[in-house]
Amino acid sequence: MNQNIMPASKMGFGCMRLPLLDESDVASIDIELFKQMVDAFMEAGNTYFDTAFVYHNGASETALREALVKRYPRESFTLATKCLAWAMPDGESAKNCLDVSLERLGTDYVDYYLLHNVGGKRTAKFDEYGMWDFVQREKEAGRIRFAGFSMHDNADTLDQLLTAHPEMDFVQLQVNYLDWDDPHNKASRLMEVAQKHGKPVIIMEPARGGRLCNLPPQAAQVLEKAAPEAGQAQWAYRFCWNLPGVLSVLSGMSNLQQTHENVASYRDNVPFSPAEQAALDEAVAVLRSLASVPCTSCNYCVKGCPANVQIPKVMELLNLEAMTNDHQFVKDLYSWQTAEGPASACIQCGACEAMCPQQIDIINQLKRAAEKYE
Ligand code: SF4
Ligand code: SF4
Repeated sequence: MNQNIMPASKMGFGCMRLPLLDESDVASIDIELFKQMVDAFMEAGNTYFDTAFVYHNGASETALREALVKRYPRESFTLATKCLAWAMPDGESAKNCLDVSLERLGTDYVDYYLLHNVGGKRTAKFDEYGMWDFVQREKEAGRIRFAGFSMHDNADTLDQLLTAHPEMDFVQLQVNYLDWDDPHNKASRLMEVAQKHGKPVIIMEPARGGRLCNLPPQAAQVLEKAAPEAGQAQWAYRFCWNLPGVLSVLSGMSNLQQTHENVASYRDNVPFSPAEQAALDEAVAVLRSLASVPCTSCNYCVKGCPANVQIPKVMELLNLEAMTNDHQFVKDLYSWQTAEGPASACIQCGACEAMCPQQIDIINQLKRAAEKYE
């Protein structure tokens, strides 16, 4: 663990889904309501706020200036923001994001600055634009206190990135109880790799984009029986709050009630009892039983595919929809997670099916996915 990293509150305020005045305008953040949410969060002793250059088309950063930075002493909270360099046309524009973020936030430094969504082909852009050296220079200049990166990729990629960039202070990873032992995501492996490199972790999507707050009835009943008073979100957060090596767990809050509930949950936070852990294990088993494709993410099918179809990812998303009943959410994920090789790129050569130890009818499953998501 990096001993020099400053403490952050274990509960973090994710500012990517703030309340809006006009639902058709993502930039129309309800500042007065947001101020009340900030106050409830701060009054309970929490301090960590997470935003990004692109959240709410930039309005998330300006909303933080109005609701937080102008109203509280600068040293009483910590700010994290991110640079989506891979979506920028050139290195100069990518580096300029920090100037813009600081101006929007109304501060002359950010506590945590993240290279946003490193991994896959995006990593090459961060390299090409010199972003790794840039954040170190900005640390020396005092405009960034700690530099890290967020990543949705797998543990091997995380290992490679941290081996290449040991100077990074922390990482932000997607971790939740459903992915903990999932063959595709293996969040437990991500945490092991971060620990091996001594990097503290900010956890994002502890409720998997809200999906673990809206469980199918079969799984919800298991948790309700074990703890009738606890909400589904509380199970998701407690799982992450009590993992070792965690700096903060982000919760994307959209209204005052959620803020009050999260603050109260964290105040009462204790590790799971053996009975609660057993109930959570049972709920996960129920969720997994709803998965429709027995893919183990072994990747044997991928190497011989002439169309570079992202087969395991497609299978994972089919299963995610079966487990969560949330078609639109999975469709949105599909649009960017399979962009390098969507199901419809399949030319039906059959090479993948010959390699699959699970004997999955991959071609049919790909057709099903293309119809659902493309
Ligand atoms: S059948 Fe489709 S997915 Fe499978 S290897 Fe051939 S092109 Fe790739
Ligand atoms: S070979 Fe089969 S089990 Fe392995 S990743 Fe491909 S589809 Fe999944």
